[in-house]
Amino acid sequence: MTVLVLGGTGESRQLAELLAQAGVSAVTSLAGVVRTRELPVGEVRTGGFGGVAGLAGYLNAESVSAVVDATHPFAARITAHAAAACAQTGTPLLRLSRPGWRRRPDSSDWHWVTDLAAARRAAEGLGRRVFLSTGRQGVPAFTDWDDRYVLLRVVEDPEVAVPETWEVLYARGPFDFADELELMRDRRIDVLVTKDSGGGHTAAKLDAAAELGVPVVVVARPPDPAGVERVDSAEAAAEWVLSLR
Ligand code: NAP
Repeated sequence: MTVLVLGGTGESRQLAELLAQAGVSAVTSLAGVVRTRELPVGEVRTGGFGGVAGLAGYLNAESVSAVVDATHPFAARITAHAAAACAQTGTPLLRLSRPGWRRRPDSSDWHWVTDLAAARRAAEGLGRRVFLSTGRQGVPAFTDWDDRYVLLRVVEDPEVAVPETWEVLYARGPFDFADELELMRDRRIDVLVTKDSGGGHTAAKLDAAAELGVPVVVVARPPDPAGVERVDSAEAAAEWVLSLR
């Protein structure tokens, strides 16, 4: 069997490793947008497929027996394409998506919003020294904030210029509680804006915000396509693949 893993996440790398250990032939697909990404073990292909038709064509041409969509919870387009292409070609599909975040019990102020524009509006009423960690793709929604301090944390350069009042911090998780606390204290952060990426690697900022009484604005995830089975760990995804053998 050949499994296509739609990747770009830590979970997809874990899955590639588990499948390699189990002797399953797997190809991990990356969008190719991040230059410094850590590569998974095994075969890798890079770049878009060319929409639903392109992905369906790939599944047929490569005789793919199953697809695990292990893309980021906010990569909604490729997730929708995978659902449509797998339905068209009759290919079994599993969604692997890490658990979402929950409001910290001791967090005084936690605001769920549906998109980046709503996050911007909510944060404006909450503080003037913002810790922005919505990823580099989210940056354009905030760049008219040139009247306040923004600590932008990204892995790679955002695609747009940022105002001079901002500080850009280049860092890749995991981040720990003590460092997050120190960072937010040192920069006198009074509001944290993030999206529900979930998992443990970048969750310490939420605990630090709770500890400091800093309000948190969280963009909720886009919904996964209806009717697609979902698991939240690489181990469970590997089990699903092995059950198809
Ligand atoms: P997206 O908006 O859902 O997808 C945009 C287009 O990129 C898709 O239509 C597809 O092109 C191509 N694409 C995306 N993921 C692909 C993959 N794994 N393999 C091949 N083509 C892929 O995705 P995005 O939000 O830009 O994210 C791009 C990648 O970065 C994803 O693989 C995701 O796992 C990773 N990532 C995203 C975020 C985030 O916050 N969005 C964070 C961390 C990592 P075609 O239509 O031409 O096939």
